Amino acid sequence: MKHPMIPQIIKDYLQVIRNGSNVNTYKLTWAKAIIEICVEQPTITVISLEEIAKKVFKYYWNQTIYFDLQQSNNPNLVPEIVTEVKVKIEEYYKTKKSRTPIHFEKVESKIDINTKKIVQTLKSDVSWRFPLVNKQHLPVYEYKKGENELTVNNAAALAEYSDILYEAINYKWTQVLETFNSAPRIAKKVRIIDFPNIKRKPLSPFRPVLEIENPNHICFICGEPIVDETPAIDHVIPWSFLYSDDIWNLVFTHQTCNSSKSNTIPSEADIEKLEARNVGLLEKMKVDVKYHHKKVCAELETAVDRDYVRKFWVACRS
Ligand SMILES: [Zn+2]
Repeated sequence: MKHPMIPQIIKDYLQVIRNGSNVNTYKLTWAKAIIEICVEQPTITVISLEEIAKKVFKYYWNQTIYFDLQQSNNPNLVPEIVTEVKVKIEEYYKTKKSRTPIHFEKVESKIDINTKKIVQTLKSDVSWRFPLVNKQHLPVYEYKKGENELTVNNAAALAEYSDILYEAINYKWTQVLETFNSAPRIAKKVRIIDFPNIKRKPLSPFRPVLEIENPNHICFICGEPIVDETPAIDHVIPWSFLYSDDIWNLVFTHQTCNSSKSNTIPSEADIEKLEARNVGLLEKMKVDVKYHHKKVCAELETAVDRDYVRKFWVACRS
């Protein structure tokens, strides 16, 4: 088997990606955008910052609308581009009834991106700084400070080695995000945005389990009975934080109570209520011949024993 030498340009990119300092995640989205453009157009030589800006917007849209991860080391200083993305996400939701996250690729034509503003930020913070590693300038592309485009002489090589480069970028992005975020499953959350379909699994298998403890369909949020409608199944600690569906975090609510609260962090009273519900549900499951031996029962028991509700609640508030 042949082992081709990895071209120097790829080594340089890897070095920049792995060793660059990251007070935010701009450099990683910047690198990812360049690689993606080269994959799409392997003969390209001149890449405009505008083209990069659109890709960067896409990555932050997908990352933010699904998982809302903090993208800089200062929670009070949201990176400008992320702020811009958040504004556009809110504008998009205003035109919709529900706050179901959606991939940027599916709504692209409806979103009016302020590329000029993003280009400005990339120009002042990223474009000229990216090639610098420990004060050394690596020849990853040709660029003069202030210009609106950069020159790559090796798009085909970047395209050919894109798998390695993407993996390095995602790995570094994960590492950087982990220093800013206490949310679980960061690596998965970074990797999954590369796939056009983030399938949220149906929650219907949980319905009969929730029935055991709440047969009268009392809404977890407002405390009123749910009549004349199928109860919605709601995540008490937001799905965007956990990126997982767990029995200990799921409750029945009115359809309207459910959609109105979306990604808000629950109050301590809600957390106490959920803890009590879990203890009650576990007791009932343990004596239910249909459920006591099932995985879902063991999972609930683990969650109760290990205090998952409170632990994840504390983590999602930080
Ligand atoms: Zn309700």
